[in-house]
Amino acid sequence: MTDFDIGVIGGGPAGSTMASYLAKAGLSCALFESELFPRPHVGESLIPATTPVLEEIGALEKVDSAGFPRKYGAAWTSAAAAQIPTMGFELSHGFRAADVMFNERDQSGVKQDYTYHVDRGAFDLLLLQHAESLGAKVFSGVRVTRVDVTRPAPEIVFAMGRREQTVRVKMVVDASGRSTLLGRQLKLKVADQVFNQYAIHTWFEGLDRSALAVGDKQQDYIFIHFLPITDTWVWQIPITSTVTSVGVVTQKKHFTDAKQQWEKFFWECMESRPELAAALKDSKRVRPFKPEGDYSYSMKQICGDRWLMVGDSARFVDPIFSSGVSVAMNSSRIASHDIVAAAEHGDFTKPSFSAYETKLRRAVNNWYEFIAIYYRLNILFTAFVADPRYRGDVLRMLQGDVYDGGEPVALTKMRAITRQVEQDPDHLWHPHLGTLRAFSQSAMF
Ligand SMILES: Cc1cc2nc3c(=O)[nH]c(=O)nc-3n(C[C@H](O)[C@H](O)[C@H](O)COP(=O)(O)OP(=O)(O)OC[C@H]3O[C@@H](n4cnc5c(N)ncnc54)[C@H](O)[C@@H]3O)c2cc1C
Repeated sequence: MTDFDIGVIGGGPAGSTMASYLAKAGLSCALFESELFPRPHVGESLIPATTPVLEEIGALEKVDSAGFPRKYGAAWTSAAAAQIPTMGFELSHGFRAADVMFNERDQSGVKQDYTYHVDRGAFDLLLLQHAESLGAKVFSGVRVTRVDVTRPAPEIVFAMGRREQTVRVKMVVDASGRSTLLGRQLKLKVADQVFNQYAIHTWFEGLDRSALAVGDKQQDYIFIHFLPITDTWVWQIPITSTVTSVGVVTQKKHFTDAKQQWEKFFWECMESRPELAAALKDSKRVRPFKPEGDYSYSMKQICGDRWLMVGDSARFVDPIFSSGVSVAMNSSRIASHDIVAAAEHGDFTKPSFSAYETKLRRAVNNWYEFIAIYYRLNILFTAFVADPRYRGDVLRMLQGDVYDGGEPVALTKMRAITRQVEQDPDHLWHPHLGTLRAFSQSAMF
């Protein structure tokens, strides 16, 4: 006897998407979210691969009319010296700038040429309410303390006031994000061997978005500004017409200092790109600085008998390509198919989720390597984005179109060039190699 078919832990994009798919398929679903929404959350810039998922669960119209800024593309700026040899790549702006528009490449299932930048408080609330409107039972402000997946009917335990309550389900979906409830409980979590980045971020009112933009269109792009400090970059994400999210991502070693040093470090980073500091000059900070750390990890296993993990609870690497929400929603899309089939067959054992495991592993490994190459040889990324021969294929990854088909050709080529540069100390790009070095096999779950 069970209380619900499926129990979902966490009401972020992964949890709400999962609950929406399951409720649409007619399964009874209970979702437990520890916070009362809206709550702030990092991860504000979407990529187009979220669009087909929003459409499938019936939330696209609601998101479109919620007034989130439309995101038509992305731009990268750098203080890179003009004399870096281009090595045969066609770079109209050298290594100083590159940009893409999403409409340059058709994407299956995506009918609009933009995606969104979102205030995650509002976006996550919208998705959670959407799941509820489809029939999922949402328990807000309810923290799950533990799960027992060893029983034939797994138990989800949570606190209600001073009393502990239990519900029994046929299977558990962990969508608890970086809390990684199941991963910690089952001791499956493994810190990434290479990436140990840290971020500090806030919102500004009045940042001059035209300062680093080329033309009006780019003002609502996400901007990634590379800094002269190794492996360090800044995001600039529109939140409203006047509010902009700004965050610095760097190696954790820069953050060993006391808390009051974070802010100092943030401003030093802005000063390292004077044009960025100038764009911020007349702006006002409207949110406290918030640090994020220890976010690069994987799991030894992402599914088992009567449980699986989706979104950040399964894995997170690095925010450089704004892929997190897209992976969260697409992992739930893919996993929900296996869960619905498992419910039809009455078999929730691990082999029922093998299609999910294989697909997610392939996609996340592509992301991992793309990110690893970005940090290892940053100028190569700019070269591939700017060069018309590779642009479309890089755009495929930037759109988040990585779940079907083989490895993107650009990735194969980037890997080969990176190895060449690494192995040849006389290569003119050798001095530009970054310090983070990841091997393909680190990408495994
Ligand atoms: C510095 C940084 C910048 C980023 N920038 C971007 C970006 O620009 N674009 C992008 O797409 N992604 C970005 N990301 C990634 C993005 O934040 C995540 O990938 C995304 O939020 C994952 O969604 P999720 O639903 O898996 O987890 P979450 O959004 O974290 O949701 C998990 C939910 O589970 C709840 N929960 C946790 N534990 C429990 C419990 N025990 N019981 C009940 N509820 C629980 C939490 O309250 C939370 O609401 C960034 C990440 C970092 C670290």
